[in-house]
Amino acid sequence: MNKERKLIVAGNWKMNKTVAEAVALVETLDRDLGAQTDVDVVVCPPFTALDAVSVKLKNSLIKVGAQNMSEFDYGAFTGEINAGMLRDLLVHYVILGHSERRECQQESDTLVSAKTKAAHAAGLKPIVCVGETLTQRESNETETVIGRQVEGSLAGLDAEQMKDTVIAYEPVWAIGTGKTATTEQAQQVHAFIRGKIGEIHGNEVAQAVRIQYGGSVKPANAQELLSQPDVDGALVGGASLEDRSFSDIINSTRN
Ligand code: PEP
Repeated sequence: MNKERKLIVAGNWKMNKTVAEAVALVETLDRDLGAQTDVDVVVCPPFTALDAVSVKLKNSLIKVGAQNMSEFDYGAFTGEINAGMLRDLLVHYVILGHSERRECQQESDTLVSAKTKAAHAAGLKPIVCVGETLTQRESNETETVIGRQVEGSLAGLDAEQMKDTVIAYEPVWAIGTGKTATTEQAQQVHAFIRGKIGEIHGNEVAQAVRIQYGGSVKPANAQELLSQPDVDGALVGGASLEDRSFSDIINSTRN
């Protein structure tokens, strides 16, 4: 697939996989995908498996990401994990502001922006998620909601940090539901997000930023979605839990 920006496909494993299962999965993925350089591949296991997965992928092109982190550097924050601790485990990426955290943990754009800045300060690349609910889409509020999330969650980044931030557009109604945005719906929102980044940081930065699509991405729909001009990869939930489906998604973009 001939793309303007290098594709990035990340697997969000959510609260799945024991350490042994996680290691077994990345062993197979590394065998299947470890030598390819066309697509940046990231796996995001739960915190408990980060260390073992990082060790297993130490010499691999597949990078490791976390699913969340604290906005604080250190201190009395029981149960939290900071960016430095993730770097210590050779983690390269961190998913921030996933809709499940926005909904279940009431994470706000202000909090996501604080985490995004803390990630950059520690040398981690954030994958910042935005997305509208079905009610918001049906009330024609998609651009208002996405515009507010992009402005709020990415507030305070300088141009270099913005270029090094991955945005994941994940319509909430498409996550884990088997419903996927049409290629037109995805392209339209991705172009809108890029335009918004352009308004804030200028066109050169906007053209450099990678915007993933997420929401029931599978081998059967990946190629069509990722062939859209402003779709620069995928954030994959369910289909990243199994070697074959995750590899097939990546391989489908390489034909
Ligand atoms: C996600 O949770 O980021 C996601 C996109 O999940 P799924 O692929 O299962 O819809």
